[in-house]
Amino acid sequence: MLIEKLIHSLRYLPGVGPKSAQRLAYYLLQHGKEKGLELADSLREAIQKTSHCKRCHTLSENEFCNICSSNKRNHEQLCIVETPIDVLAIEQTSSYHGLYFVLMGHLSPLDGIGPREIGITELTNLLAKESNLLKEIILATNPTVEGEATAHYIVNLIQEKYKSNEIKCSRIAHGIPMGGELEFIDSNTLAKAILGRVVIDEF
Ligand SMILES: [Zn+2]
Repeated sequence: MLIEKLIHSLRYLPGVGPKSAQRLAYYLLQHGKEKGLELADSLREAIQKTSHCKRCHTLSENEFCNICSSNKRNHEQLCIVETPIDVLAIEQTSSYHGLYFVLMGHLSPLDGIGPREIGITELTNLLAKESNLLKEIILATNPTVEGEATAHYIVNLIQEKYKSNEIKCSRIAHGIPMGGELEFIDSNTLAKAILGRVVIDEF
């Protein structure tokens, strides 16, 4: 019974099917008891002590996350993403030093997910406080139909509300993966890559 319960719990994880769940459960019980208990402890601790940053809504164990509390970040740039893991992905590139705002997903009218559900009210409140410092808002929602629609919605909102502040809105370029070959890339991605091209200053 306990083993079945463990298998059932493991199946909750994304990408873990019935076979993988069985293998993981038997592995933990047979060979990985100590590490398994460590895993259980970190899981419990992380879940209990992690919440959302009060400013940007990414995951944080403090009231404000490390990025929002840092005095080394550029307060003139705000990058808007769909989920906390997107913040991590952008941070790992070390190419962005501004601040973030994490939406609660993307607009999806057919599923009843509108502006309020994704945190547009919170974004508007944040902009009301910080728009005097802001020079650029980078829309880094996913390059999906919903992500594009969400980006457009936010750009319209900003352009309407902050006409006089001259805040530049930009969209991340979606292009060709490093090491990719043009012939294997789908035409949507290739079209985006051509449209999102940048001027080369020097070779
Ligand atoms: Zn934060």
